[in-house]
Amino acid sequence: MSDTIFSKIIRGEIPCHRIYQDEWVIAFLDINPLSRGHTLVVTKEPVATIGELSDKAAAGLGHALPRICRAVMKATGATAYNLLQNNGREAGQEVMHVHVHIIPRYAPGGGGEESGLRVAWRPTRLDQADGADLARHIARLL
Ligand code: AMP
Repeated sequence: MSDTIFSKIIRGEIPCHRIYQDEWVIAFLDINPLSRGHTLVVTKEPVATIGELSDKAAAGLGHALPRICRAVMKATGATAYNLLQNNGREAGQEVMHVHVHIIPRYAPGGGGEESGLRVAWRPTRLDQADGADLARHIARLL
């Protein structure tokens, strides 16, 4: 994988507002936050998408994430948060290096600003025959 801006941050070549780091992840504030406290948790393993992570790197990410979420919530006073994790250009990924967005959400009038995150959720109905085939197919590939 080519070098990304996040690899440069991990190596300390580009500054960031760092929150946390350990053997597997680094966490810092997003440079263009959708809300106050918008944080990125970035894997030190330099792969683009979550499915490419080694089991150890994935475990390291999973281990650190809840703790960082708790600290962001306490520090900001936010009342809720979204986790967003984009994989691939069509999913909106711009930096091709695995990262999870922690996006704090604030109650109206609760002292924080409204988040710039909008989720347009337009559900369809699962086709039962296709669902049965697809579930079996995915399960076989695990
Ligand atoms: P994504 O679209 O999921 O790839 O998101 C990439 C995120 O990285 C965006 O929210 C950017 O604002 C953020 N970003 C890009 N460069 C930097 C940087 N140097 N420091 C902090 N955040 C950055």
